[in-house]
Amino acid sequence: MSLRPWRDIARRQSRQIMVGNVPVGGDAPVTVQTMTNTPTSDPGATIDQIRRCEDVGVDIIRVSCPDVESTAALGQIVRAAKVPIVADIHFHYKRALEAADAGAACLRINPGNIGSSARVAEVVRAAKANGCAIRIGVNGGSLEKDLLEKYGEPCPEALVESALDHIKLLQDHDFHEYKVAVKASDHFLAVAAYQQLADAVDCPLHLGITEAGGFVGGTVKSAIGIGSLLWFGIGDTIRVSLSAEPEDEVRVGYEILKTLGIRTRGVRVVSCPSCARQGFDVIRTVQTLEERLKHISTPLSLSILGCVVNGPGEARETDIGITGGGNGKHMVYLSGVTDHHVQDESMIDHIVKLVEAKAAEIEAETTDTPIAAE
Ligand code: SF4
Repeated sequence: MSLRPWRDIARRQSRQIMVGNVPVGGDAPVTVQTMTNTPTSDPGATIDQIRRCEDVGVDIIRVSCPDVESTAALGQIVRAAKVPIVADIHFHYKRALEAADAGAACLRINPGNIGSSARVAEVVRAAKANGCAIRIGVNGGSLEKDLLEKYGEPCPEALVESALDHIKLLQDHDFHEYKVAVKASDHFLAVAAYQQLADAVDCPLHLGITEAGGFVGGTVKSAIGIGSLLWFGIGDTIRVSLSAEPEDEVRVGYEILKTLGIRTRGVRVVSCPSCARQGFDVIRTVQTLEERLKHISTPLSLSILGCVVNGPGEARETDIGITGGGNGKHMVYLSGVTDHHVQDESMIDHIVKLVEAKAAEIEAETTDTPIAAE
């Protein structure tokens, strides 16, 4: 039994599928996704953006394929990317066929939107032939007309019915490697829809609060919406949807997972808001350190507290701690124990070195852990 039961999250058991070499659902780690915003027809710019997202730990990346120029560039992008690529298709089923042939690991397509059953059969054939998964993406902003007429407005029941209709089309063609999203920009609506869907299906669920907004507002909204669902145990893969750079979406995704104790990556910073008691400029120090420690992927914790009021207590719970003292001289804690002092002017470089050394030490102690076993 857990010593801290108030931290435990009982995860909904979904069926596992593969997106390329990344397992989604079942007991696989909750994966973090984002989407590029460069023209996919410009493979150089798209690969550069994918690289920046890989540097911050993205697991799966989606690219839009609105035209044949995009699917023509997809092969080069797939070969350059270290993570599986999802091709985002709307309406044009031929783009789905081209994307599958180009090596996409997953097609984001709603089978009910591409026309006849014969077209669905063609897409399913291409997906099966190329080992592609399919992601059904229901969105409150583009619900089918008949469902809007039936329900009067986007509501959880309408989103779920739409998802079930799309799922049925895939099942009718004996295709089961799918995951589903029922996104809405209204987080109350999205959360209710995902809760209903989780009871109705056994496939993995892709979580997102769509069009969540700018960096600050969208982060808060996503943390509440996606975070609530994950806390309920619902969700196998997430995409934070911000009017911000894709790598920022990845960082926010990880912060949500880290905050819920679902996954760990990089430096978890514990820091105070600062006040008149601070022995150094806490806000500037945290901002600088977050930037300079972005390259660390090893999970470890760092506390940065302005004074002894809460500094020693937080330092006891973290790998490395710093607590502001008088006269520009601050206490450094290692593994929760007071260790040495550092002067103001050399503090940031010193902490960066300590964190890098600790990360190397942890890495040396642990073998490379594949995502499936994280
Ligand atoms: S730890 Fe010290 S400096 Fe930071 S907010 Fe608390 S009292 Fe203020």
